[in-house]
Amino acid sequence: MLKGKVAIVTGGTRGIGLAVVKKFLDNGARVALTGSRQETVEKALSELKDYGERVMGLWPDLCDPEAVASAFTSVKEKYGRLDILANNAGVSARDSLYTYDPADFSKTIDLNINAVFVCAQAAAKIMKELGGGVIINTSSMVSLYGQPSGCAYPTSKFAVNGLTKSLARELGKDQIRVNAVAPGVTNTDMVAALPEEMVKRISAGIPLGRVGEPEDVANAFLFLASDLASYVTGEILSVDGAAMT
Ligand code: NAD
Repeated sequence: MLKGKVAIVTGGTRGIGLAVVKKFLDNGARVALTGSRQETVEKALSELKDYGERVMGLWPDLCDPEAVASAFTSVKEKYGRLDILANNAGVSARDSLYTYDPADFSKTIDLNINAVFVCAQAAAKIMKELGGGVIINTSSMVSLYGQPSGCAYPTSKFAVNGLTKSLARELGKDQIRVNAVAPGVTNTDMVAALPEEMVKRISAGIPLGRVGEPEDVANAFLFLASDLASYVTGEILSVDGAAMT
């Protein structure tokens, strides 16, 4: 479904991002993944060594426009083009408002909003020159309902939806589609660390009766990245088993 395409996946070293990287590679794309540290990027690349030169890794500071522009340009130089950006890197938060350190609030906002903007800007400049592309942001089901702690996280994901819908309107004329995937509770390291009883309780409240797997989410990324979604833009696609928490 992505033969000949080149993708960048931010936060591609583990969890949902790594599942998206594998899905894109298995569907014929060449992929550059980013992570926060060289060490985690190299660990992910060692897991993907069977894909050879079709996968590369980078670790720019995603909030630094110059570092991101230079990293994305190096991907275009290596693979000759850039068609897809999966803006996936993000951090969650659980702090109570009463004790929330404003510096922690800002850190979540920086990565979950500012970096999404910075990466979209760098990618769109390259895509526009090449005649089009696809940007897929990672939202969350909490972008619809909020959550009862860690208010920076849902706040950031509401902003991701706003950015997605606005950029879809702004970039349509350049043939750049912009969508978001909004996962529900997904079985990444964070969920794996929860007690089994708690996961059972969460699953019981989800109409489909289970938490999502990273691959469920990666399939939505694949659809939106592919030409099957050629007339889909400005959409927030929930992948949450109809959960409402
Ligand atoms: P994860 O913690 O397993 O992976 C996060 C990725 O982001 C890693 O690759 C990490 O290297 C990267 N990252 C973290 N901090 C970074 C930083 N400061 N700079 C650069 N990269 C950084 O997360 P995940 O659960 O796979 O989540 C991925 C995305 O999906 C996030 O945007 C998250 O908000 C969203 N999401 C996750 C869930 C879930 O249940 N797991 C639910 C809804 C939305």
